[in-house]
Amino acid sequence: MPKANPRHPKFPIPGGPELRAKGWRQEALLRLLENVLSVGEDPDNLVVYAALGKAARNWAAHKGIVKALTEMDENQTLLIQSGKPIGLIRTHDKAPLVIMANCNIVGQWAKAEVFYELQRKGLICWGGLTAGAWQYIGSQGVIQGTYEIFMRIAERRFGGDLFGRFVLTAGLGGMGGAQPLAGRMAGAAILCVDIDAERARKRQEIGYLQEIAPDLDSALAMIDAAVKEKRALSVGLVGNAAEIYPEIARRGIVPDIVTDQTSAHDLVYGYVPKGMSLSQVKDLRDDGQGQLMAASRASIVEHVKAMLDFQKKGSEVFDNGNLIRTQAKEGGVANAFDIPIFTEAYLRPLFCRAIGPFRWMALSGEESDIARIDDLLLDMFPDNKIITNWIKLAREHVPFEGLPARIAWLGHGERTALARRVNELVASGELKGPIAFSRDHLDAGAMAHPNIMTEGMKDGSDAIADWPLIDAMMLCSSMADLVVVHSGGGGYAGYMTSCGVTIVADGTAAADERLDHALTNDTALGVMRYADAGYEEALDEVAKKDVPYIRLG
Ligand code: NAD
Repeated sequence: MPKANPRHPKFPIPGGPELRAKGWRQEALLRLLENVLSVGEDPDNLVVYAALGKAARNWAAHKGIVKALTEMDENQTLLIQSGKPIGLIRTHDKAPLVIMANCNIVGQWAKAEVFYELQRKGLICWGGLTAGAWQYIGSQGVIQGTYEIFMRIAERRFGGDLFGRFVLTAGLGGMGGAQPLAGRMAGAAILCVDIDAERARKRQEIGYLQEIAPDLDSALAMIDAAVKEKRALSVGLVGNAAEIYPEIARRGIVPDIVTDQTSAHDLVYGYVPKGMSLSQVKDLRDDGQGQLMAASRASIVEHVKAMLDFQKKGSEVFDNGNLIRTQAKEGGVANAFDIPIFTEAYLRPLFCRAIGPFRWMALSGEESDIARIDDLLLDMFPDNKIITNWIKLAREHVPFEGLPARIAWLGHGERTALARRVNELVASGELKGPIAFSRDHLDAGAMAHPNIMTEGMKDGSDAIADWPLIDAMMLCSSMADLVVVHSGGGGYAGYMTSCGVTIVADGTAAADERLDHALTNDTALGVMRYADAGYEEALDEVAKKDVPYIRLG
C-alpha cells in the first residue's frame, strides 16, 4: 500500500507487495518515478530539485511514461527523450527497460537562452542529475558527500572534527538542504541562509535543520554560543546571501568554513537577486529574463567577493558545485577561481578508486529493509572506516524521506559484492521486497563537468565528454535496467554531460547477473578514467583490484 505523504498529499509514497506492472523490474522504475515526485520540491510542476530539474517533460508525458511502464513486457525497451516517452521498442529480456537522453543540445547551441526557448516551446526539459532519471532520494542523496567534504577539511585543518567551528553557507533547497545536517554530524555550528522562508521551514520540519533565527544578530549569537561550548548546532536564517555574507564580513567575523549551495547555476529560475522578493522574481521569469539575469549576476558578484574576502582572512572557502564562481567570473570577478572546487580539493582521491555516492532504495517502502542492509554493510566492511562511521551516523541522524533509502560511498568491487548479497536476501525473503541500486551522476566515470567534477584534471582532460558516453553505452551492454545520458539545462547548459544507471535486485538469478556486470563495469570505468589521466591512486587500484585497464607504453 502506498503511504500518505503529509508534505505533498497528492503524491503518496509508493510501497507494498502489489504489482501494477507486469514484473518487479518495471514496477521498480514506476515506484522510483513516483518517489522522486513524492520527495520533490515542486511536484505539481514535476520539479524535483535544482530549480528546474524535472521528472518528466509535462503531465501528458508523465501519463505516457506511467502507461508504458505499467503495460510493457520485459523484452521491450522504453525510449525517453528529455522527459517524454517516444517509443516502446522490441529488444530482449537482458536489455535495459528504459533508455533516456535528457537535455543534450549540440555544442555551439548549448546556452542557457537556447535552453529556455526550447523549454518554452515544450521541446526539452532538464533532468537535473537524478531527477529526470528517477534516482533522487531527497536531501540524503548528497548528505554523505557534504559530510565527507566537511570531514576532509576537519582532518586537514581542525584536528579531525568541527566541534567549536563556524560554518557559513546558503541554500536550503532540494540538495542544499543536506548542509545543516551534514554540518551538525561533523560537529559544526552551521549557519544556513535561504531567501525562501518556506524552504527553511521544510528542512526544519523533516529534521535536517534545528533552529530558524529571527534575524542576523540572533543567528550570530546562537552560533557564537555553540562555538564557545563546542556544541554542534544548525541555524537557518531567512535572507539573501548576497546581503548577509558581505554584512558578516563587514562585522569582521571570519567563519572557519564558507561555501554556498544556492541555485547560482541558473540566473533566471534559481538564484534570487538581492532587493527582489520571490514574487517579483517569479513575475520576471516569463518576460524579464534579461533583467533577471543581469540582476542575479550582479548579486552573485557581491556574494563571491565576500567569499573571497573570507578566504583572504583565513576561512576555508570552497565551491560546492553550483557554478557560482563561473557566474561571478562572467560578472567581472577575475579571481573567482581562487576559490577551489570541492571535487579537486577534497574528494578526488576517493573518485580515483571509484569510491562515490552509491545508493539503494527499499521498494517495499519498509524501513526495516534499509536497517537490515545497514547491518549487512557493517558485517561486510568492518575495516572500511568511511562506511562504518557513516552508517552509524546515518542511522542516528538521517531521517527517511519518501521510499526508505541509504547512500554509502562504496568503491570498485564493494558495490557489486553488497548488491549481489542483497539480491540473495531478497530471494530468501529476508527483505520485504526488491531493492533498487543506483548512484549519483557525480561519480568517477560518469560525469564530465569542467567546473565541477573534472576541474583541474591532471592530464588536462577536463572538458572531454567521451567518458559518460562510454559509460552509458557500456551500461546498456552490461544489462542495467535504466540507463540515461544527461546534459546541463538552464544555467548548466553547455557545462556538463553525465550518465546515470539503475539496477533492480528482485531476487532472481537474472538480477544477480545484471548487478554483477553493470556495477562492476561502472566502477571499473571510473578507476580507468582516473588511471588514464595519470592519477597514482587509480593506477594503484588497477593493480590491487585487477581492473581491466589497458595501459599503453
Ligand atoms: P534548489 O533550487 O532546490 O534550492 C536552491 C535554494 O537557494 C532555494 O531554497 C532558494 O530559495 C535559495 N536561494 C536562491 N537564491 C538565493 C540567495 N540569493 N540567497 C539565499 N538563498 C537563495 O537547488 P538544490 O537542489 O538545493 O541545488 C543547489 C545548487 O547545488 C544547484 O546549483 C545544484 O546544481 C548544486 N548541486 C551540487 C551538488 C554537489 O554535488 N555538490 C549536488 C546537487 C546540487
